[in-house]
Amino acid sequence: MSLVDDKAQVSEACTLCGTCLEVCPEGALSLEEVARAVDERAAFSRGVWVFAEQRDGLLPEVVAELLGQGGRLAADLGVELSAVLLGHEVAGLAGELFALGAETVYVADDPRLQYFNDDIYAEVLARLIAEHKPEVLLAGATALGRSLIPRVATAAATGLTADCTGLAIDKQRRLLLQTRPAFGGNIMATIICPLARPQMATVQPRVMKKGQRQEGAAGRLVTVELAPDQAAATQVLEVVRAVGEQVNLSAAEVVVVGGRGLGGPEGFDLVREMAEALGGVVGATRGAVDLGWIGHAHQVGQTGRTIGPKLYIGLGVSGAVQHLVGMQSSEVIVAVNTDACAPIFQVATYGIVGDLHEVAPAMLARLKELRG
Ligand SMILES: Cc1cc2nc3c(=O)[nH]c(=O)nc-3n(C[C@H](O)[C@H](O)[C@H](O)COP(=O)(O)OP(=O)(O)OC[C@H]3O[C@@H](n4cnc5c(N)ncnc54)[C@H](O)[C@@H]3O)c2cc1C
Repeated sequence: MSLVDDKAQVSEACTLCGTCLEVCPEGALSLEEVARAVDERAAFSRGVWVFAEQRDGLLPEVVAELLGQGGRLAADLGVELSAVLLGHEVAGLAGELFALGAETVYVADDPRLQYFNDDIYAEVLARLIAEHKPEVLLAGATALGRSLIPRVATAAATGLTADCTGLAIDKQRRLLLQTRPAFGGNIMATIICPLARPQMATVQPRVMKKGQRQEGAAGRLVTVELAPDQAAATQVLEVVRAVGEQVNLSAAEVVVVGGRGLGGPEGFDLVREMAEALGGVVGATRGAVDLGWIGHAHQVGQTGRTIGPKLYIGLGVSGAVQHLVGMQSSEVIVAVNTDACAPIFQVATYGIVGDLHEVAPAMLARLKELRG
């Protein structure tokens, strides 16, 4: 609650807690009135926004995926889909965002935005939200998104559901249904943000499906100027790229994953052989990673990488929910497991009940035979 012209106003931060009713000396407020004001505030918010993160002038795949999903949500709400682009010398990316489905693109192109900086990026995004009042804002659950979006949600006094694996609209109540693993991944929770706007969610890469690309599509371009005195409290002096084991799991079209059923680190020789034969990369369950059989860079799942390859092959993988959330959008899933009741078979396109040490060599032999 705030005072405007000596009159009480329901502020952006209202959560209908009722404290203001108790402290109002005149008893002038009722919960119904406050709730009506909150509903009116929500009714003024319109549109689905996607934060189009870019690095070195390149849009990561997750932006296309978010615009695909954002387009479906916007259609359900009957509103426009917009993208927000921040950076320096990035305005040329607007055409790509239109092609990916954005109807409006807000571009803040300024040398002060050249390097990602939480402070200034959050300020610009929060200011745009306050001005244009979108009802939904989506961003990638990338390193950049994870750093930026919680700050924006705090500045906008709204909620945020991180690492969503599913998004849908409750049309009647105009609510974003945000699904993500909860309680250590043991249940899938659907979370709503009924009072504050925008409803904000981050989504892991490779979870949502891209939309249909419209080459040459045009839209409305809105140029956003930074205030002359706008400056970040911190300054990026140099960007040093990390050197470590690089496993391009997220972009791979074929991923062969090994689990504890491999029996030991040497079991990964078979996984590597199959991945090489199929031109794919090696993935692993956390079970195998925790045992030190392979590095964390290979881990697939809730606390590893999210993948969506054309072909996923799981050897000795049980299919725990924390693993499934990171691979279930794979196009074709092949699972080999001795236990016919293993949960991986519930999502598998092809399930083979058998010992991987017999099945995988037979698959490799057949593959070689087919290739002559
Ligand atoms: C907060 C949290 C986050 C997590 N994050 C992740 C994550 O990101 N990724 C992840 O993978 N897990 C994650 N986990 C762990 C997850 O719960 C499971 O423990 C893990 O996925 C199990 O790995 P697994 O399938 O290799 O092992 P197991 O569950 O032990 O399964 C091994 C399977 O191999 C089969 N098998 C055994 N021998 C053979 C054989 N010879 N041939 C064929 N099949 C055989 C068995 O029947 C069994 O189904 C997380 C857990 C928590 C609590």
